[in-house]
Amino acid sequence: MNPSRVFPVADQFGVYIHIPFCAKRCDYCAFTTFTEYPHLQKAYIDACIKEVGLADEAGMSSPATSIYIGGGTPSLVDGRDLALLLNAVTKRDGAEITVEANPESLTGDFCAALADAGVTRISIGVQSLVPRVLKDLGRPHYRGAVEKALELIAKYNFLTHNVDIIYGAVSETQDDLRETLDGIFSMDPGLSHLSAYALTVEPGTPLAQETFRYPDEDRQAGFYEFIDDYLSDRGLKWYEISNWAKPGHACRHNELYWQGSPYLGIGCAAHGYIKGTRYKNTSSIKRYLKITADGELSRVQNDIIGPEERELELLYLRLRTASGVPEKNLRITEDIADLVSLDSGQYILTKRGRLLANEVAHRLLAGTETQNFTHASKSP
Ligand code: SF4
Repeated sequence: MNPSRVFPVADQFGVYIHIPFCAKRCDYCAFTTFTEYPHLQKAYIDACIKEVGLADEAGMSSPATSIYIGGGTPSLVDGRDLALLLNAVTKRDGAEITVEANPESLTGDFCAALADAGVTRISIGVQSLVPRVLKDLGRPHYRGAVEKALELIAKYNFLTHNVDIIYGAVSETQDDLRETLDGIFSMDPGLSHLSAYALTVEPGTPLAQETFRYPDEDRQAGFYEFIDDYLSDRGLKWYEISNWAKPGHACRHNELYWQGSPYLGIGCAAHGYIKGTRYKNTSSIKRYLKITADGELSRVQNDIIGPEERELELLYLRLRTASGVPEKNLRITEDIADLVSLDSGQYILTKRGRLLANEVAHRLLAGTETQNFTHASKSP
């Protein structure tokens, strides 16, 4: 079953909505999210609805082919309010609508409201099932919460869903990783999409201050290969460095980023890319509420992206996908020859190449100087 319609690339328009609320901040997290403002949730959703209207009036919007509600923890917000927000967005028939959720806050009422609102895809942040590893990550949930969340997702019959894991916490062993994957597949044998992110140390996080907790990159590389083999054996193939899916279950919204299609970013700290300009909204939730209430868009940054810069960005993003980049765009030298393979005129990263994608990226050619890229991770 194809979980959503595949729109032609030229037709695609995405909407990303940022929900900046969490119950507790995880030790590795650098996302814009707040634990101290649960009382602002309703006002925040109202402001997002208003921003959707303001963007429409400004001619920045088109009917959405995909919507992604991420965070933060969208499952902390009342599902009926998220349904109102989704209602405010004009969408195409067959649009993919994803909502991120955390196991401990996902409830039946939330799922019911989302299912009624036409949500097609839930993305659940499991990270690990091993208590010691969760403690290392500063994550609050436990195995029982994951089990219950996966049961709810099945009960409400969403078209598809994703499980996120994070690997490489300092105490994690390969047996721990196997325990996590075995546990996920025993609870959810038909799982059709999994995202696995290497734990990274982000400046300003509690993790960054404790060097003894830093992940070991060589061990992480071994874990990546283990995950890839494990998922391949279960019919999930990699389609981007951190993403594996069964046929027809790739996340259309993420693919839209990699294809360079436009998207509107709604909410505090959200990014968007419209008509050749990348923008960012204010990261202050209070300023976001005030500026939006005053009937203005809260843009704090507008960068016009030139065609050469854009082409290079897209090459970099596509290099990370299983579609690869055209032969003419990659300069192959002896030291990276085993990191890519050539297939129908496209260079595609080998498994080893996926571990060293940044090395390969430095050989990308697009008429401009190459630049220093950082690891891509979750969607914005
Ligand atoms: S990792 Fe996710 S759940 Fe944890 S603080 Fe960050 S946004 Fe919230």
